[in-house]
Amino acid sequence: MQFTIHQALMPIPEGYQTIDVQVSAGKIAAIAPQLPTQGDAIDGTNQLLLPGFVNAHTHSSEFWQRGLIGPYPLELWLGELHEFSPLEPEQIYLSALATALETLHSGGTTVVDHLVLIPGQEVATVAAAVHAYREIGIRAVIGPLIYDQTLAQGIPDGGANRKSEGFAYTTTEMLSLMETVIAQFHAPEQGIEIMVAPTGIQLCSDDLFKGCIDLSDRFALCRHTHLLETQAQQRLAQEKYGCTAVEHLHRLGFLNQRTALAHCIWLTDSDISILAQTGATVVHNPLSNLRLGSGIAPIFKYRQAGINIAIGCDGAASNDGQDLLEAIKLSAILHNITEPDYRHWLKPSEAIEIAAQGGAQGLGQGQQRGRLTEGMSADLVLYDLTQLSLLPKTNPVGLLVLGRPCQAVRMAWVQGSCVIDQGQATQIDETRLRQDLLAYGNWLAHRPSTNIAQMETHYRQIMGLEP
Ligand SMILES: [Zn+2]
Repeated sequence: MQFTIHQALMPIPEGYQTIDVQVSAGKIAAIAPQLPTQGDAIDGTNQLLLPGFVNAHTHSSEFWQRGLIGPYPLELWLGELHEFSPLEPEQIYLSALATALETLHSGGTTVVDHLVLIPGQEVATVAAAVHAYREIGIRAVIGPLIYDQTLAQGIPDGGANRKSEGFAYTTTEMLSLMETVIAQFHAPEQGIEIMVAPTGIQLCSDDLFKGCIDLSDRFALCRHTHLLETQAQQRLAQEKYGCTAVEHLHRLGFLNQRTALAHCIWLTDSDISILAQTGATVVHNPLSNLRLGSGIAPIFKYRQAGINIAIGCDGAASNDGQDLLEAIKLSAILHNITEPDYRHWLKPSEAIEIAAQGGAQGLGQGQQRGRLTEGMSADLVLYDLTQLSLLPKTNPVGLLVLGRPCQAVRMAWVQGSCVIDQGQATQIDETRLRQDLLAYGNWLAHRPSTNIAQMETHYRQIMGLEP
């Protein structure tokens, strides 16, 4: 499959250049001011060409609960989330489609889905997500969200000596499930990868982490986990290990260049040095962190330490959308309030680079995609600069990041295959998807949660809140 984009605008260090791009066999074959048409001709006039971004952390099935969960911190929010998780593989399929579609419409060509599994239908859950991602044509890295401890154990005990019930699955069962999923679905050459993704230190045993390290080494898989999203987790690590979570994961050998760590809000300076040494990536999810009151990740400190950063939307129930451009905008401006020296503030071009290159590097794919250079995979996005939200003619990257772009993506390709054309998905019927989504659920303002009722008293006590 060959095509040539003519006369698109491409950012260069000095500003912008109008260029032609030839794509062949899924890769960028040539970039120059004028090139002969090879294959289909695409008119890029008044359009901005960028590499596709990576939605570097999300949970697609949270889509079903977006807009619904009240103002709670993570630990209680999770209680309600788990209580009402979707239970049908058909829903997993639809929410994966919707997550992929919103990602594509906001400039993403890769989605990293930390996928919540339906109990008893774990393999069917992964199959449904894989089906959706293949169908819509997005590149996907799927990490079945596994853990082997109960939600209540994820909250610090604070000397209360709470009794913990056993978890429904053993560590061995969880790991053998992973082996099945890897054997059935890991197909990087087809744009679908499986990664190991224990949910986090709060709900996982050391044996589960060790088993994941082993699988990652045996099958060359990326590693992914939540890390120090809340202050409660910082305390829990001290209770559980007598050291920080980062020190503990480092000792276990979990951190390396293919490890991506979602959130990373409550790290010490020595934790930051460890991350820098190991080459692990921090995935920044600013919307979720604000929504759940988790804190503000010290992104400038990470950049100064040389740590790679990627940007994620996080699941739609703590966001409550999947608009990558919104996450990029917030990543670009949120930290200005914590950093008095404006010379450290992010430029829009740097935010774009983090979302594309940083995202690819976090998946060990920095040499294959994330930049507009010859030989790179053709994961490309054309933004329509004639849309009202991207007018007038100023700095298109500045406006794309700092403005409020609407219907900005005109075309998108994944490995040279067109997945968005004229602002519409090419491989699925968007109207049909909306109709299918409408068939589920009810309009409701709130719902009582048994989990929150059970956990709230203890949570308030250990966090020093009024009873
Ligand atoms: Zn998450």
